[in-house]
Amino acid sequence: MPIKFIDQLDLSKKKVFIRVDFNVPIQKGQITNDARIKAALPTIEYAISKGAKVILASHLGRPKGKEVKEFSLEPIAQRLLFLLKKEVIFSENCEANGNRKMIQDMKEGDVMLLENLRFHPGEEANSPHFATQLSKLCDVYIDDAFGCVHRAHASVEALPRLMKEKGAGFLLKKEMEALSTLLKNPNRPFTVILGGAKVSDKINLITHLLEKVNTMLIGGAMAYTLLKAQGKKVGTSLVEDDKLELAKYILEGVQKRKVELLLPVDHIISKEFSEDAVTQVTEGSEIPDNWMGLDIGPKTVQLFLETIQKSQTILWNGPVGAFEMAPFCEGTRRVAEAMAQNKGFTVVGGGDSVSAITQFKLQFKFSHVSTGGGASLEFLEGKILPGISALEV
Ligand code: AMP
Repeated sequence: MPIKFIDQLDLSKKKVFIRVDFNVPIQKGQITNDARIKAALPTIEYAISKGAKVILASHLGRPKGKEVKEFSLEPIAQRLLFLLKKEVIFSENCEANGNRKMIQDMKEGDVMLLENLRFHPGEEANSPHFATQLSKLCDVYIDDAFGCVHRAHASVEALPRLMKEKGAGFLLKKEMEALSTLLKNPNRPFTVILGGAKVSDKINLITHLLEKVNTMLIGGAMAYTLLKAQGKKVGTSLVEDDKLELAKYILEGVQKRKVELLLPVDHIISKEFSEDAVTQVTEGSEIPDNWMGLDIGPKTVQLFLETIQKSQTILWNGPVGAFEMAPFCEGTRRVAEAMAQNKGFTVVGGGDSVSAITQFKLQFKFSHVSTGGGASLEFLEGKILPGISALEV
């Protein structure tokens, strides 16, 4: 069913509730990274320019339904004032009756930020009562919090269901368009690169993407469960022994669908997981006893790069090695660089891959970098996301 976007709605003189994702890292009252606030600015500035009374709402951290000072959005109101260059009214209680009077008195283009939605137990409980209280504050509902659309929380699900005038903001629109392109009409060859710690976290993604992609490159610790299922020696590498049957099922699925699956053919191995670890490169795909695989080896890098270079569409989720430690970051860095140079449609999703490209200062070199780890994973798994279906009209 169709979803409207913010630029298809009449916002003039309306009280517009915008659910944003301002869940930013804060240390000792200081915001250490404001990327999420900046990502919502196009939507906020658009609503201001249309003469809306803008009501912003977000969660921050996990206060579990109680007022916890360290999770107050007050520092965010200060940062917004700086970024928008205009006054931001801060409401200390997100559902107070007094807010209605304050909003009534707001002028066109004024901005209010509500206190942390999760200070109220009704938010995470998806409470209809809490949603009704919030609905009384506004005429129009906009969701621009892509990172939260997979959660059935009151401000994401129950509230938009109550609203007639509703739609997606520019950030949510961009995410939906980019991820839908991958699932619906990717230019081919379409390659997915998967990594990270566990096969079990990505099983739904793998199963869904097997129907869509031409080539699947798998690195990271999750590759060892697949290699072990193929009967290979993996030493002391991180393996999910209780998922070996699942791994065999994936390998059979690959064969049935004629998807090309490339697993590591060599590895960077070590006996310890540390910054000054002594490493070796294996000759082939087997790992000796007492050694663990912590990154893909040079032959695998070459193999992966050749595939990346000839792909028209690439999705990457999960580092191909323990990239946080210098001795094991080369594979992930080479994959990131090759993808950054690709002129096709390149998408990075998932918290750790985004950290990796940020560490390598390549974050602006991709067609799309998803702002939601869990949400992008569930979208790409083909799941119906509560925050998106609640926007349907
Ligand atoms: P995930 O959250 O599932 O995407 O996993 C990301 C984590 O997997 C990162 O912290 C990586 O350090 C870790 N990782 C990737 N490859 C390996 C490996 N070969 N051995 C141990 N950890 C790994």
